[in-house]
Amino acid sequence: MFPKTHLTIAAAATVVVTAAILMSPSAQVEAKRMSYALDLEQGTVSDNGTVETPEPEAPNEVVINGQAPVADAEQQAKVTKPAPEAEPALEWQTYKIKSGDTLSSLFKKAGFNDGIMLSVIHGEGEADKLQRLYAGETIRFATDNAGDLAAIELQRSLLESLKIEKAEEGFSGQTVIREPEARPAFASGTIDGSLYLSAREAGLNDRLTMELAGIFGWEIDFVYDVRKGDRFEVVYEELYLDGKKFDTGRILSARFVNRGEDNTALLYTDSNGESDYYAPNGKSMRKAFLRTPINARVSSAFNLQRRHPVLDVVRPHEGTDYGAPTGTPIKAAGAGRVRFSGWKGGYGRTVILQHGDNITTLYAHMSRLGKGIKNGAKVKQGETIGYVGSSGMVTGPHLHYEFRLNGAPRNSRTVKLPDAKPVPASEMARFKRYTEQRLAQFNGFRENFQQLALASDE
Ligand SMILES: [Zn+2]
Repeated sequence: MFPKTHLTIAAAATVVVTAAILMSPSAQVEAKRMSYALDLEQGTVSDNGTVETPEPEAPNEVVINGQAPVADAEQQAKVTKPAPEAEPALEWQTYKIKSGDTLSSLFKKAGFNDGIMLSVIHGEGEADKLQRLYAGETIRFATDNAGDLAAIELQRSLLESLKIEKAEEGFSGQTVIREPEARPAFASGTIDGSLYLSAREAGLNDRLTMELAGIFGWEIDFVYDVRKGDRFEVVYEELYLDGKKFDTGRILSARFVNRGEDNTALLYTDSNGESDYYAPNGKSMRKAFLRTPINARVSSAFNLQRRHPVLDVVRPHEGTDYGAPTGTPIKAAGAGRVRFSGWKGGYGRTVILQHGDNITTLYAHMSRLGKGIKNGAKVKQGETIGYVGSSGMVTGPHLHYEFRLNGAPRNSRTVKLPDAKPVPASEMARFKRYTEQRLAQFNGFRENFQQLALASDE
């Protein structure tokens, strides 16, 4: 059993662990540390050369509870970063932009008149973008020794800024986007009550937990299927800027053991740049159809022996109703083509989609159709095709949804859904190379985690 602990492994240590595993399970790490880049987009491992460290370190150095592995990261940063250039002495004034501030008022506060402001916004490059200011952003003015404006920095967010500098003639501006450093981290837990509580105890934030549920949600119903004792393991990105963690990124790989059944999902970016989650055998984690085309609760189930609520006669209910306020978006359950869009008797405003040769889905009682939804139009899975309403013969606003196989109605909530497309055969070799690295990384984390768990039991 895994204790519900959260641990973070230093990025450098992880790389070493992974590299060691890739080379040989018992390999001693040599005195010269190898720095590997796991290029997950290309599916290759490249050697970034050697980084000199004074002492070889054990490959399984592990840090618990995010206590920063700074020494390694900083040492590496020092090796790769060029020495900062000597800059002329500038004096910076910083203002947090509030609603009501104008560019002119900010220039005035910093001691510069409108003439200077105009020469800045008429400058080269992206200098004119200084005119778009938003409350909450930070602006800094730099003054040189002579008291002249030398530079302006508009910090739009942690990652984006607009930098304007004095050029030979006038000013010149440039948007600078910083790339955060993504370091892999691991979390693991056993479900006691809900996934959300256990995931939070394991150190995952709610966004990662939502994503985790989304990855496995095609196979596992997190409301009905999850049992006490189910386990999860996640390798995800922690995003760092200047050595400080500021956010989490994507889930790279995840495992969910549901009632003894093992599900593993790996994030894979194909050669067209499309990313999705696949099982290690290349099967998509998705289905070709959403189980539910709307974020709403079932108000009336599929029932072929139902009494009709308005007509009060036995009339089969050939679909599932979802009660939702008028205007709630309705998603295409699968990719396909619009076979019908318009008014259809008691169904009211309706869309029928054709998926391949033998499946159709129907969405009735809409208040209005989605943008571009007309006969023959192509739709993507999840695209909004219309909005909930109460058109046709109904007692209140809801979506009536039908799933038909060869024309016969099927219960959309229980019908076996076809899988989404797997990794194509032409890309399988690339996928295999890539998944080997992902699984090695996953196993490295897990082994460290188990060793730690044993150590803390003793
Ligand atoms: Zn209905």
